[in-house]
Amino acid sequence: MVTKDDVTNALKGVIDPELGIDIVSLEMVREVRIEGDSVTVVIALTTDACPLGNRIRDDAQQAITQLEGVGSVDIQLSVMNEEERNKLIEKLKSKGKPTQLPSKLPKMRIEKIIAVLSGKGGVGKSSIAAMLAVELSRRGYKVGVLDADITGPSIPKIFGELAEPFVVEGKIVPSASKGGIKIMSMNLLTGEEEAPIIWRGPLVSSAIRQFYADVEWGELNYLILDLPPGTSDAQLTVMQLLPVDGAIIVTSPQELAGMIVSKAVHMTKMMTVPILGIIENMSYVKCPNCGEVIHLFGESKGKLLAEKINTKFLGSLPIDSALSKACDEGKIEEYSNTDFKEIVAKIVG
Ligand code: ADP
Repeated sequence: MVTKDDVTNALKGVIDPELGIDIVSLEMVREVRIEGDSVTVVIALTTDACPLGNRIRDDAQQAITQLEGVGSVDIQLSVMNEEERNKLIEKLKSKGKPTQLPSKLPKMRIEKIIAVLSGKGGVGKSSIAAMLAVELSRRGYKVGVLDADITGPSIPKIFGELAEPFVVEGKIVPSASKGGIKIMSMNLLTGEEEAPIIWRGPLVSSAIRQFYADVEWGELNYLILDLPPGTSDAQLTVMQLLPVDGAIIVTSPQELAGMIVSKAVHMTKMMTVPILGIIENMSYVKCPNCGEVIHLFGESKGKLLAEKINTKFLGSLPIDSALSKACDEGKIEEYSNTDFKEIVAKIVG
């Protein structure tokens, strides 16, 4: 049977291509788990997951697969926190190596960057990202939306008619909604809303980098990031590269309790940014006649989840046909919801 020592020894053969030192000595191996013949390894990268991270992952996968008694191998990439990075810098110093680690992109003229994420698709993440942008804009803030959910048409669809971005002196000028929210989305460039976009991880990552760094966002109070669902390279890249101030997790009660918890906990671990809280969407239905609240999917689990991962529960939102209608018709700026106003007050005060 394969042991943790066997796995660690094998990982000593995996060299960080940039630093030229093995990942065990660099203390990048955060966790090794063995269940039967399945091996799970969590590797904490310094910052940039792509393309370096993928190479480290492939090398680690190969090194462990070759061990006797190994069935399946799951390599999970994570990001070092500040403390781990500092420790690594000390280590590099002691080895006489250069200590310049890749760092986050500059903040530019953006005060706060908030990422909206979810464990799976269809929970209303894009709708909530759009609603958040609209509500902040109503409060008088200058707001932008970076649609990093490259594969879905949601953001441009939710905001309705948007002009195609154009380039001036090497910078991309984003589109703007009727209410003046700046919007950048791959779907604004492809033209056809229905065109399926097939992206591989590294391409998604470089598109997100470009949408942040090469877009003329100007002066903003808030930039809202609509991230793709899940915990793939795209989320990692954003967390590593962009100076994100906080993240909001959107869940829905249909998500299996255990699954969302583990996904959210994983995300928490992965992130070097604070989680501002959890929003449970599609939590209940309110009878339009008598006002009775019906929990279609059982009692709300969002609060429990928030407690479990030690984060704030920002509130729950009902299934609201007016919201889906507004999203479908591209009229999110005409929609408003008092429950959501309360949620926004919890986020920005
Ligand atoms: P995600 O970004 O998580 O994939 P979307 O924001 O695209 O999800 O939402 C999926 C669908 O559900 C959209 O058609 C949206 O209009 C609808 N929707 C989202 N939240 C609600 C809600 N609270 N009530 C009714 N419909 C909703």
